[in-house]
Amino acid sequence: GDGRVDPTALTAAYCREAKQNGARFLEGVNVKQAVSRTNAVTGVDTDQGQIRCEVVVNCAGMWARDIGLKNNVDIPLYAVEHFYALTESLKDVYPDMPTFRDPDGLIYGREEVGGLLVGCFDHDALPVRLSELPAPFEFALLNENWDQFMPYMEQAIHRIPTLADCGIRTLVNGPESFTPDAEAHLDEAPELKNYFVLAGLSSSGVTRSGGMGGVLARWIVEGDPGLDLSRYSLKRFGPEHNREDYLRRRVRDMPSAHFG
Ligand SMILES: Cc1cc2nc3c(=O)[nH]c(=O)nc-3n(C[C@H](O)[C@H](O)[C@H](O)COP(=O)(O)OP(=O)(O)OC[C@H]3O[C@@H](n4cnc5c(N)ncnc54)[C@H](O)[C@@H]3O)c2cc1C
Repeated sequence: GDGRVDPTALTAAYCREAKQNGARFLEGVNVKQAVSRTNAVTGVDTDQGQIRCEVVVNCAGMWARDIGLKNNVDIPLYAVEHFYALTESLKDVYPDMPTFRDPDGLIYGREEVGGLLVGCFDHDALPVRLSELPAPFEFALLNENWDQFMPYMEQAIHRIPTLADCGIRTLVNGPESFTPDAEAHLDEAPELKNYFVLAGLSSSGVTRSGGMGGVLARWIVEGDPGLDLSRYSLKRFGPEHNREDYLRRRVRDMPSAHFG
């Protein structure tokens, strides 16, 4: 079924729980790569020195691939522009109304601050080259791109004609990383012991955060995830799938695969 959650509140809740259980958060520290000896992780190199550790998790979102390459770990994923529009307030829209999705139109939506949030999983998505983003980029967004989103807004108007006369507050365009099969990566790197990867969430990172984070924690602490995770294995791809030219072509089709 459908559910909704405030991602900021959810993240804050995870942090609070983690701190209560002894975790420390170091913000503004740039990880360069893992440090290893005899093919096992012994630490991470950062712009503020080395941190010794027995286990590292590369969960660096769309940056995970580049960080992996520093240790010859292949993490095939690539960011694409990903959108939703927020409308002005609409009559008859209420917070606990059901979400809707139209798999033919590749759109979905729900209430958001009195208006509608209308998002799409577009055909021929637009790859984003990380080196072309302004730095630092965390918490930032891309420019509105109505050329790419308009066909999906038209689909939404077709389903909900009142949208034609409704103002748009903003068109959110954030880069989101997709893998070559739009499934997440959740695995220990075959190339390096104790180097775990949780990345390439392919537009389900909020939904899957609790489950995948929990399974990964169990794997690290107990030595066994307790579930068959082969669907998310890094071994489902070869080195050829981590080439940039392949990824840029492949991910164009991945958002629209969301609706099957
Ligand atoms: C428009 C849009 C709509 C979406 N809608 C949904 C939705 O409805 N439901 C859903 O589940 N998901 C949705 N998503 C996707 C979701 O937001 C992502 O899947 C999720 O945020 C990914 O989380 P992450 O932790 O893997 O990566 P990120 O949130 O990108 O976090 C990666 C972190 O790693 C840090 N980092 C990177 N490199 C380094 C480094 N070298 N050193 C130190 N730190 C580093 C970054 O600063 C960042 O904080 C949407 C995304 C977009 C763009």
